[in-house]
Amino acid sequence: MYISDFNYCKPKSLKKALALLEKSDNGAILAGGTDLLVELKTGLRFHKDIISLSNIKELKKIIKDENNLYIGAATTHKEIMTSRLIMKYIPSIAEAVSKIGSEQIRNTGTIGGNLCTGSSCCDSAPVLIALNAGVEIANSKFIKTVSLKDFFVFNKKTILGKGDIMTRVIIPIPAQGIGVHFEKFGLREAVSISVVSVAAMVKLKDNICIDACIVLGAVAPTPKISTKSADLLKGINISQVAENSKILEQVSQAAADDSMPIDDIRAGANYRREILKVLTKRAVLKAVENSNRN
Ligand SMILES: Cc1cc2nc3c(=O)[nH]c(=O)nc-3n(C[C@H](O)[C@H](O)[C@H](O)COP(=O)(O)OP(=O)(O)OC[C@H]3O[C@@H](n4cnc5c(N)ncnc54)[C@H](O)[C@@H]3O)c2cc1C
Repeated sequence: MYISDFNYCKPKSLKKALALLEKSDNGAILAGGTDLLVELKTGLRFHKDIISLSNIKELKKIIKDENNLYIGAATTHKEIMTSRLIMKYIPSIAEAVSKIGSEQIRNTGTIGGNLCTGSSCCDSAPVLIALNAGVEIANSKFIKTVSLKDFFVFNKKTILGKGDIMTRVIIPIPAQGIGVHFEKFGLREAVSISVVSVAAMVKLKDNICIDACIVLGAVAPTPKISTKSADLLKGINISQVAENSKILEQVSQAAADDSMPIDDIRAGANYRREILKVLTKRAVLKAVENSNRN
């Protein structure tokens, strides 16, 4: 299928991009185009004006201050995987995006595009939500920061309104004792959309789990925090959390209870629940192991 004609703009500043988007009655942002171009080509979407972010340097920066790491929305997955700042402070983000698509997709696709597509199976969201990340959203009138956990509304629907551009992702630098890990299951080893995914975060102090967050991907209309499973971990002596332990079994069952999977072309709901239990156990054990890195 051919893509319908559209006006293509490649502004050099965020201010100009925001003005163009505001002026257009049917504009869309183009980042890496790995989702948008497919949708345009298959006729799922039509836009009169396409505004590319590829010339806006301020959206591609990865920087850090005392408390947070900031990843520009137009940063590619490959740039995240090779960032020294990310590898030093929050390697679990690089590990999560390394599981996205193929090398070509990671070279082109961006973290902003991954989140703004709003897909419940997007692979960067679970680990970022587990890390309590926020996203900065700008339009021609204001800039606001919202918690990523409140960004997703339904599958393919986010809180972004007309004229909004996601500018950066803000991730608190994990305190000592925090460990995070992302697990994904697809139908192939590579270039595989998640059938189920799980990110786990644990915070340990003197071997006690003092905080935890478990985020489920592809088993609900949006990435979903499983409160029941995280609550089971809080207050537990971590020596109890071993492979085949009773507590790990309960945690994984609670994650399955909190999930709302559907039957679709890639898997049935019951199969997804079973896989989710396995991935939750793995993610928690790995997160505990990773807590020694911080
Ligand atoms: C073969 C293939 C394999 C894939 N595998 C995976 C996978 O394993 N895991 C996974 O999670 N995804 C996968 N994807 C989906 C996609 O590649 C990723 O979601 C990618 O990160 C999208 O980023 P992008 O920069 O290409 O987004 P684009 O296609 O440019 O944009 C996606 C959407 O977000 C909007 N948008 C983009 N940036 C912004 C912004 N800063 N502010 C506001 N709106 C914005 C666009 O208007 C569009 O609606 C795959 C895609 C393909 C084609």
